[in-house]
Amino acid sequence: MQKDKYLSTPIRYIKGVGPSRSKLLSKLGIETIKDALYFLPYRYEDRSSIKKIIDLRPNDISTIVAKVKKITIKQPKSFNQKLKILELTLTDSSGVTYAKWFNQPFLEKVFKINDEIVLYGQFRLNYWHTALETINPEYEILDTEEPFNEQINIHIGRIVPIYRLTNGLSQRQIRNITYTVLLDNIEYIEDSLPKEIIQSQGLPDLRESIKNLHYPPNDISVEKLNNFQTKFHQRLIFDELFFFQVGLALIKKKEQKEKGISFNYKENLINQLLVKLPFNLTNAQQRVFKEITNDMTSPFPMNRLIQGDVGSGKTIVALLSMLLCVENGYQAVLMAPTEILAEQHFTNISNFLKDIDVKVQLITGSKKLGLKKKIEDAIDTSKANIIVGTHALIQENIRFEKLGLVVIDEQHRFGVIQRATLRKKGFNPDTIVMTATPIPRTLALTLYGDLDYSIIDELPPNRSPIKTILLDKRNENLRFNFIKEEIAKGRQVYVIYPLIEESEKVDLESAIEGAQGIQKRFPNLSIGLLHGKMKAEERQATMEEFKNGKIHILVSTTVVEVGVDVSNATLMIIMNAERFGLAQLHQLRGRVGRGSNQSYCILVQHKTNEDARRRLSIMTKTNNGFLIAEEDLKIRGHGEFLGTKQSGLPEFKIANLPRDAEILTAARNEAFSLVDKNSSIAIYTKLNDSLRQFWGDRFDLLKVG
Ligand code: ADP
Ligand code: MG
Repeated sequence: MQKDKYLSTPIRYIKGVGPSRSKLLSKLGIETIKDALYFLPYRYEDRSSIKKIIDLRPNDISTIVAKVKKITIKQPKSFNQKLKILELTLTDSSGVTYAKWFNQPFLEKVFKINDEIVLYGQFRLNYWHTALETINPEYEILDTEEPFNEQINIHIGRIVPIYRLTNGLSQRQIRNITYTVLLDNIEYIEDSLPKEIIQSQGLPDLRESIKNLHYPPNDISVEKLNNFQTKFHQRLIFDELFFFQVGLALIKKKEQKEKGISFNYKENLINQLLVKLPFNLTNAQQRVFKEITNDMTSPFPMNRLIQGDVGSGKTIVALLSMLLCVENGYQAVLMAPTEILAEQHFTNISNFLKDIDVKVQLITGSKKLGLKKKIEDAIDTSKANIIVGTHALIQENIRFEKLGLVVIDEQHRFGVIQRATLRKKGFNPDTIVMTATPIPRTLALTLYGDLDYSIIDELPPNRSPIKTILLDKRNENLRFNFIKEEIAKGRQVYVIYPLIEESEKVDLESAIEGAQGIQKRFPNLSIGLLHGKMKAEERQATMEEFKNGKIHILVSTTVVEVGVDVSNATLMIIMNAERFGLAQLHQLRGRVGRGSNQSYCILVQHKTNEDARRRLSIMTKTNNGFLIAEEDLKIRGHGEFLGTKQSGLPEFKIANLPRDAEILTAARNEAFSLVDKNSSIAIYTKLNDSLRQFWGDRFDLLKVG
């Protein structure tokens, strides 16, 4: 504790920092000594051997120390008016070489004749093959006051750390700071990872790791350093993931200890529904429903994640669970991520339950007028057994008369924290979370690490895989022919336009224009238009017409993305497909292929780039949502993939998924077995500070000690 107190000393008290520089450091997230110790380089440069200019070889990446002999600014008018080149002529005792920067006018003020500088970059033969030059190299100007000393230099002659910077702070300055901080304070760092775990995982010493990550020994591989693959990195990554998983394990344990509802298995309502269904449940659906009934009939609260690919039939499993709840005299809530989906769930469930004595209510935020009345109805079991709605359901502070089950149908929008918050509001119902699109296992462990896990790994029979075709925008005829053919077969068509907030107006216009263009081409067909700016009633009416087959072609923005279910629709055309992410494309494509007819998805590309090509090509190669999710994660990295802000998770400083998936699994196993073994909370007090540090203001959710 004493030591930790010391580590929280503000950084401005460190020699060479002071008030103004500490402001800059604060922009980098460095407020205290401890922050500085944990402020790791994001990459490294091997400057361990400084080359004489005469020893430079073409194409080698090398470090030199040289004097500025001449500064020239060139503006080759011939081919580009705007091009401005700054060229330094550099010498050491052995020869001459050149460094060039393009269009970086501020550099003119940076260099002076006779400055001694360090350069790090790739040297190549110049145009005339008369000398070597380096373009846009890394540079540092050596301090003339403090002549270069090869023995203790932290800036060259070694593997050098490169830190994130902010305006007004140079690499040299921040290196001097981290170096000073390390020298004087590293021994205050205390290791809170249990010894047995350090041993069983074969992890290196914590202080040693931090030291080496700032100023690595020269025999370490720079490539490994840059890929965060040294054992020192692994140590810090493990710590971070471990503290995270201990938190999840504690949340889970706490919830398990709480008293939940112990439902009785009654199958009257369930059987009424099952005999009405036009299909049999798949084996996977039966298995998952069994897992749910086991949880619901146990005296502990259920917290279960259901993963299943688009179209695998999650909704019916949720509905059966809700009936079990209702039959026990409790209310069940189904929460959807968008209004349109809530509306659709409401319609579907109402249809499924026709002639069955269960009352269903819809509550969404947009029905402002009726909302108050609806809320009053909702709390009354005599008026509502199943309540369908958006997140307005929890935000509007509704209290239910007898809430027994919450089903969250979502798209990674409701994380660990929000779920725990829901619980803290005083509800203690059973909970099912259904993911709209599959997410990779590594991420499921992160985002839903406190939940039990069920997977519907089977699609209903008689589904032929959707054929996906990539078309250029100019290929309009082919596109229209596809529409014509499907309509001729009596099927229906979606045409989707992107709509992103920044260019909302333009996007909306292009959707409207698109609809008009299609109408012109098919004057005898009925074309519908759907977007988020419409009133809920209009939207619902349009959806209803499409469902009944009155609308042949539905032109829409991405509001139909999640969950919409019209099995006669067999053609999905996605305009500007390059603007969509993989998960979104997969969701959209999942709107077709819901019946037994062959379905098609046409991805229409307008302009593309490398990333977009990669995404679209994955879409044409597989229909498997789990594979697509893995690829998506590789392309986007976990921060983007999860939308960390939305997920409400603490952010990782060093760990990164999927890169650190293996460490995550190890950390999770250690964390869960530690929490499992220790019924007493004494063990956590040692971890307390680290947990507090990692979980920040979410710490009290863990309720440690
Ligand atoms: P998702 O898992 O994407 O939410 P849904 O629950 O919307 O999938 O189901 C997709 C479609 O498949 C719906 O029309 C549903 O009625 C139908 N369906 C569900 N289960 C089966 C089954 N076992 N056999 C045939 N069709 C099914
Ligand atoms: Mg669904």
